[in-house]
Amino acid sequence: PGKLIDGRAFAAGISTEIAQEVSTLRARHHCVPGLAVILVGDDPASDIYVRSKVRKTTAVGMRSFPHRLPATTSQGVLLDLIAMLNADDDVHGILLQLPLPARIDAKTVLDAIDPAKDVDGFHIVNAGKLSVGRDDGFIPCTPLGCLMLLKAERGDLSGLHAVVIGCSNIVGRPMAQLLLRERCTVVVTHINTRDVAAETRRADIVIVAAGHPGLVRGSWIKPGATVIDVGINRIHDDTGSHIVGDVAFSEVHAVAGALTPVPGGVGPMTIACLLHNTLRAAQAVIENAKT
Ligand code: NAD
Repeated sequence: PGKLIDGRAFAAGISTEIAQEVSTLRARHHCVPGLAVILVGDDPASDIYVRSKVRKTTAVGMRSFPHRLPATTSQGVLLDLIAMLNADDDVHGILLQLPLPARIDAKTVLDAIDPAKDVDGFHIVNAGKLSVGRDDGFIPCTPLGCLMLLKAERGDLSGLHAVVIGCSNIVGRPMAQLLLRERCTVVVTHINTRDVAAETRRADIVIVAAGHPGLVRGSWIKPGATVIDVGINRIHDDTGSHIVGDVAFSEVHAVAGALTPVPGGVGPMTIACLLHNTLRAAQAVIENAKT
């Protein structure tokens, strides 16, 4: 069987480095990186994510500014809050927890965030920078975490054949852009792709973010390929309720060279990358002040 990539240990290592850099910033520049997290409504899954983000932000010595707004909040009130956070020098990163209530237009509010504080990388300016291969924007946290794991596993990715399954703006699409920037040959597949299995069989690197448990079978995997499973799916069976990814785990594990488990693979990397982006945002403010 292939190696299991320990995302939890990797993320813990990144968090330790970030904590050291935060204490350096505090000592040398009297700057404490701050992350504002906005949650609209009371979706239980979002609430768990926000709590976990707040806890991990303070654990590395950063300041956390959670803003919990009722589900009835108007778009105007949300835009006013974003304007206030854009102007607040103590806030280096702003994260708007998705999904938003249907009344609110996600595009409008995401694009109201100052791109220099858009640590989720969803602002059109940051998405545009990534799509033209520039490295001075913020990269969405989940694909960035996948890339860090891939580089640790494979080193230089240049020329490798990568297949991305799923093309959401949050995971698949930015993942494909990032792999292209690393000079991979990239094939993006999605729900309308005629034969995802045939495309995947050619891949040295498979990234699956479809939200479909057991989608990727062992017979789809080229022996030795590196498989990154982004899926988070709750399933219920005779033994209770479990979280599983998008690959048929034991089949794929038997064929792949390396595989991320779920849980304990990509999941912990996402928050570590959020803290990484927030640290970068604070460092950029200090750099800009020098010039
Ligand atoms: P999404 O629903 O927005 O997009 C799913 C994509 O997969 C779409 O592009 C769709 O065309 C494609 N797809 C769906 N079924 C398919 C199939 N049978 N064959 C080929 N393509 C198919 O989802 P998302 O927000 O990108 O999330 C995907 C999965 O990743 C979910 O399980 C989600 O929970 C998980 N996720 C995990 C993290 C993390 O931190 N680990 C972060 C974000 C999302």
